[in-house]
Amino acid sequence: MKLLRELIETKGHATIAQFMDIAMYDSSQGYYIGHNPIGKESDFITAPEISQLFGEMIGVYCVKAWNELGCPKEFNLVELGPGKATLMLDLIRATKHVEKFSQGRSIHLVDKNKRLIEIQRKRLLENKASWHGDVSTLPKDKPLIIIANEFFDCLPINRYIKRNNNWNEQVVSILPKQEEFCFSFIPVLAHFSDSLNHEYPNAKEGAVIEICYPAQQIIRDIASIFQTQPGAMLIIDYGYDYNNKTRKAFNGSLQAIQNHKFHPLLSDIGRADITAHVDFFVIKQTAEANFCATKGVISQRKFLEEQGIFIRAQALKKNANHEESDYIDSGLMRLMDPMQMGELFKVLEIFSIKN
Ligand code: SAH
Repeated sequence: MKLLRELIETKGHATIAQFMDIAMYDSSQGYYIGHNPIGKESDFITAPEISQLFGEMIGVYCVKAWNELGCPKEFNLVELGPGKATLMLDLIRATKHVEKFSQGRSIHLVDKNKRLIEIQRKRLLENKASWHGDVSTLPKDKPLIIIANEFFDCLPINRYIKRNNNWNEQVVSILPKQEEFCFSFIPVLAHFSDSLNHEYPNAKEGAVIEICYPAQQIIRDIASIFQTQPGAMLIIDYGYDYNNKTRKAFNGSLQAIQNHKFHPLLSDIGRADITAHVDFFVIKQTAEANFCATKGVISQRKFLEEQGIFIRAQALKKNANHEESDYIDSGLMRLMDPMQMGELFKVLEIFSIKN
């Protein structure tokens, strides 16, 4: 990774956020830029790829949200990080019969991955859609419904570790002799260390805090659109919801995955997916501080059950043969089982506040 090496050689180190930024989004070698990471034969699999029930239930949610927004004649349906567009296709199919919803929506997709965008364009050929590289160009002309499944976990984090009663930032540097990348720690400014101690009073020696500044910025950007247009946002991701002030667990969650297995973070940079669990508490706090209302955080299991996933699975199985029926059940199990995605994945809703 030439760019990472150059950055470290000029600055002495790269923060974890800079490292993730280069590893994930570098225009020539970044993981998320040029290849399709999703699928059995690739690095990881996501809920919509496991079962059509997932996208269908998001469709049910969207129709409800649209109703709560007063059934606007025209609205923007936005997806952040749509992957292979499977969720969107299932959503479109599941909501087809709600004519006013289907006729009124304009689809907007936010993605950076050229390979995935190509797949999205092909698969959504029959549906008019617009693409955006980030949320800054999203239209502000109509009410919005925004969906983000496994999007926020991709965004770069900064990582702080408490050592000898002081906070240090974890960084990537280069081992002097071997010339290899390694992790090291640099002290943070005294006032920042004090503010971390104040914010996380129960953090003890060895505590790790991961802060995703881009996630907070995206929420602020969306909250500012919600100031001018009514809207609802649905975030689904693996993550946690601890109140900072009472939080006791401080294990880090930064990880790399390649070919469905954990992978060392500093080898094969740009060829493995690097993610961190989403801090739902901070996202919720950011939304509320920016004049939005929130609902949740609840487990994926509870959310999907509320949308009627079991009833839909039964209906699907009525017309299925044995093999198809087993497939429906095994997908349902992966999405819902507390030992699989059911509890680890969480759901948060954010709304514009009605005037
Ligand atoms: N939601 C999909 C895909 C999840 S993978 C699904 O559930 O299957 C993450 C998605 O977010 C990919 O489409 C990836 O290209 C996109 N992505 C990651 N980081 C991004 C960023 N900073 N800006 C825009 N899109 C991003």
